[in-house]
Amino acid sequence: MSILKNYFKQNSVMHSFSNCQWPIGDPQEKDFHFCESKTVVGKPYCQSHCDVAYIDEKELKKEKEAQKNRRIAA
Ligand SMILES: [Zn+2]
Repeated sequence: MSILKNYFKQNSVMHSFSNCQWPIGDPQEKDFHFCESKTVVGKPYCQSHCDVAYIDEKELKKEKEAQKNRRIAA
């Protein structure tokens, strides 16, 4: 139970970054850094990187909905 609590604690910390955590470059390269623009409230990324980060999720949801509707129609 306490492990789960710690997990959620860590997760909430993860969502309170004040600088964008979008990685720029190759983590193995010297010039690797994070975007560090101001984040959207409740998100670990800035607005433009939120758009990039969450677009796949949105598209996936849309695709799932479309499949569901197709199944109902069939
Ligand atoms: Zn960013």
